[in-house]
Amino acid sequence: MIIAIDGPSGAGKSTLGRMLAHEVGLLYIDTGAMYRAVALAVIEQGISLTDQRAVTGVAKHARVDLAGDPNSLQVKLNGRDITVAIRTAEIGRAASVISTIPEVRRELVYHQREMGTRGSVVLDGRDIGTVVFPDADIKFFLTATPEQRAHRRYDEDRARTNDVSFEATFADINARDERDSTRADSPLAIAEDAVVIDSTELSIEEVFERMVAVVRERQMKEVS
Ligand code: C5P
Repeated sequence: MIIAIDGPSGAGKSTLGRMLAHEVGLLYIDTGAMYRAVALAVIEQGISLTDQRAVTGVAKHARVDLAGDPNSLQVKLNGRDITVAIRTAEIGRAASVISTIPEVRRELVYHQREMGTRGSVVLDGRDIGTVVFPDADIKFFLTATPEQRAHRRYDEDRARTNDVSFEATFADINARDERDSTRADSPLAIAEDAVVIDSTELSIEEVFERMVAVVRERQMKEVS
């Protein structure tokens, strides 16, 4: 079974992806972490984010591994644990810049498809239901207003550091929405057959319950 979860930044995709994978007993793949890993490697090597050839070279040679169970997923770059290092606002921004490069996407999509063939998986990202696995068994599109998403991201970031402001987080969410949905290659879009959940007025638990209900209904149909 392949479950795709797409949506804009801060919509709760990774939290819900992990919860769902854990509940249903599937592997969880955070595709955003893969773009973040490449962005980290690019920055560490002193390469400009807009140097398409050099960034593509990094994407081709970087070995990005996702290991562990959904609740303690470890991200590795060439064997080094970068789970924490990729969670900064700077790396998020850089990932959204390098993810506009078609060759970088091609490289990472290839690996995502390969991982998807190893077993039943939940993947979260921006283009899973539209490009990576257009035949996914279940597609979710999670969303919420930019203000609500910025509030959630701000609360998360503030638990880690004092060096954040709501205004900067809100501006960052808007800039990422704009870049992710207007890029030429695989823009963020709602797949025709996606179940859309707007979580602006819902708790994580309420969204989770809806998602589990959709999965269980599908499983029942398959059995009968
Ligand atoms: O989901 P996350 O915030 O970790 O993703 C970081 C960035 O990577 C996103 O802003 C987006 O630009 C890019 N991305 C993408 N396609 C995916 C996953 C992430 O373009 N499937």
